[in-house]
Amino acid sequence: MRIAGITRLEDLPRICPRLSRQSNSKYGEDGTRVVQVGSARFGGGRCVVVAGPCAVESREQILEVARGVKAAGADMLRGGAFKPRTSPHDFQGLGVQGLDVLSLVREATGLPGVTEVMDVRLVDTVAEYADMLQVGSRNMQNYPLLKEVGRAGKPVLLKRGMAASLCEWLGAAEYIAEEGNYDIVLCERGIKAYPSGEYCRYVLDLNVIPAVKFHTFLPIIVDPSHATGVAAMVEPASRAAVEFGSHGLIIEVAAGGFGAPKPLCDAAQAIGPPTLKRIVDFVHGRDGAFAEPAERGSGAWGQGNLHRPRTPDA
Ligand code: PEP
Ligand code: MN
Repeated sequence: MRIAGITRLEDLPRICPRLSRQSNSKYGEDGTRVVQVGSARFGGGRCVVVAGPCAVESREQILEVARGVKAAGADMLRGGAFKPRTSPHDFQGLGVQGLDVLSLVREATGLPGVTEVMDVRLVDTVAEYADMLQVGSRNMQNYPLLKEVGRAGKPVLLKRGMAASLCEWLGAAEYIAEEGNYDIVLCERGIKAYPSGEYCRYVLDLNVIPAVKFHTFLPIIVDPSHATGVAAMVEPASRAAVEFGSHGLIIEVAAGGFGAPKPLCDAAQAIGPPTLKRIVDFVHGRDGAFAEPAERGSGAWGQGNLHRPRTPDA
């Protein structure tokens, strides 16, 4: 008996023939597609750190945070102009005005920027300003949006739906690839599970990192900010993500300093530039640790073993 809607990892070559490692031999057994965004190269052997505020609130705010993240050594800037908020009464972002601010800041710092697009009608507008388009967790299965984003000619950061299986996530990525755009970076940002909302916001699924690497050649990064929802957990979660083989991190940062205003959005998970600097230093200290040919398959943490399920008696 077959049940409609059941997907299994064995079905990936049918669900996503363009992106499944098994059905696309171009990248071999463990090659990664390098996705280039300005000077940042996802999957290029050096971890990419994207950092910035949850939302663009003003020119002054984003300029201050952008200078802080650049000084801390981040490679890219993040910041939402359109925010998917639980309540329509909460701050929704500055909209197109926020995009404008974001591009001014990019000119000032030289950092490429990623920003979320939520509305299929605004894809071209957002693509004019952004170096990379973010599809958020809530829109991971918005198929018309994925198709439009796939046609926009910009690299895409595809966040995992908060309740999405790996098959659903890679199926969503396939919609983008189907439009001819393979410049997709996957982002694990925590999934809903029993403790969500109790002592953490979501549950950071580190296990998915090696699974993604086994089943596709797309790079994967981790968002420790939304995954934990707690500023004090962001640094250890970042380190853990890197140890699991993440190709990068996307982190929410607020302006530090005495008397700095509280962010309008996700304040509890925002870290300051000094913590970001420690994370950046750690991350680059680990660069190459998983890519050394000598390490391949030579131990539990060698890349060869890390992303290959081990048989019980292996
Ligand atoms: C964000 O990155 O600003 C965001 C809203 O994340 P997510 O879609 O993962 O909730
Ligand atoms: Mn946020």
